[in-house]
Amino acid sequence: MVDAVTNSAAESQLLSPLPWQQSLWARLLDQHQQNRLPHALLICAAAGMGKEQLAIALGQYLLCQQPENGQACGHCKSCLLSDQGTHPDLVRIAPDDVGKPIKVDQIRALVETITRSAQQGGYRVVVLGPAEEMNVNAANALLKVLEEPGDQTLFALYSHRPGRVMATIRSRCQSLSLPVPDTDAACDWLRQQAGFDGEPLEQLRLAGGAPMAALAQALEGQDEQRKTLYQTLKLIATQQLGPTQGSEKLAKLSLAAVLDWWLALVQDTLRYRLTDDADGINTLTAQKLIIGLSRRVNEQQMFEFADRIQQYRVNLMSRNNPNERLLLEDLLIRWGNLTNRR
Ligand SMILES: [Zn+2]
Repeated sequence: MVDAVTNSAAESQLLSPLPWQQSLWARLLDQHQQNRLPHALLICAAAGMGKEQLAIALGQYLLCQQPENGQACGHCKSCLLSDQGTHPDLVRIAPDDVGKPIKVDQIRALVETITRSAQQGGYRVVVLGPAEEMNVNAANALLKVLEEPGDQTLFALYSHRPGRVMATIRSRCQSLSLPVPDTDAACDWLRQQAGFDGEPLEQLRLAGGAPMAALAQALEGQDEQRKTLYQTLKLIATQQLGPTQGSEKLAKLSLAAVLDWWLALVQDTLRYRLTDDADGINTLTAQKLIIGLSRRVNEQQMFEFADRIQQYRVNLMSRNNPNERLLLEDLLIRWGNLTNRR
């Protein structure tokens, strides 16, 4: 999962802090006005909370020649460059591909760039993350510039898992923990995003409360895919469909996503059975199915089924190359047995 950067103004790359980052933003601007902004920040939060967007917005603000009302002005020369994503004094470093490390060559090129003076004569900003993805050589190379960054240089690092960032890097950065977005604010924000439809609360909950992740999933059409899964599970639970036909219906979906949604549904069922509280159901689209199942299934078997999904999920992640179709069919057979108890 990544921190997708979005901006409602279509192609503009000039970013603002997100609604749930406002108090942190005010604090950063305050530090800047008092000349107390550190030269290195480590912005920490789970994936999908908007860390990269905050880092870039801060960089663009610092580069702006005439900020207005706590925002980059949007029309100075610097802002126009930022808007096109071509500002020479804002450097972004990220893995070339998802799951790949940030390599030492990338850091060496960065060091070369920033040891020259700022091209627009002001700040230089490096936005780098996820910081835990730097391999040891890359981290060591970065360490040298972090120790002697030069004037008016900001390293805005961000991390999904700060515990995995090399300790010597961490100790040279001021850590900032991004607040978890308030649910209402995050839902409002989701509703305003171009291309978002569906139920914001459900998508937010299924994305672990991370709004950027919820948006990215919605834009990938995952809402429709989830509905296909729930429909299939319901048909099997009511004996209108066999496991083999079920696996055919689900064959085109990402198995990892299917397992995550399925597990959420099973956990919702168990939670509802134990608490009788419909507000605790995250999978809102399948609420009726969940309530119906919670009255029918054997609790112990359902717990075992949840464990099994988790085990299969681990197998899938460990790239043991399990036969995905067989794995899915196995789960659907078990699902049929579990839900057709008399
Ligand atoms: Zn400006």
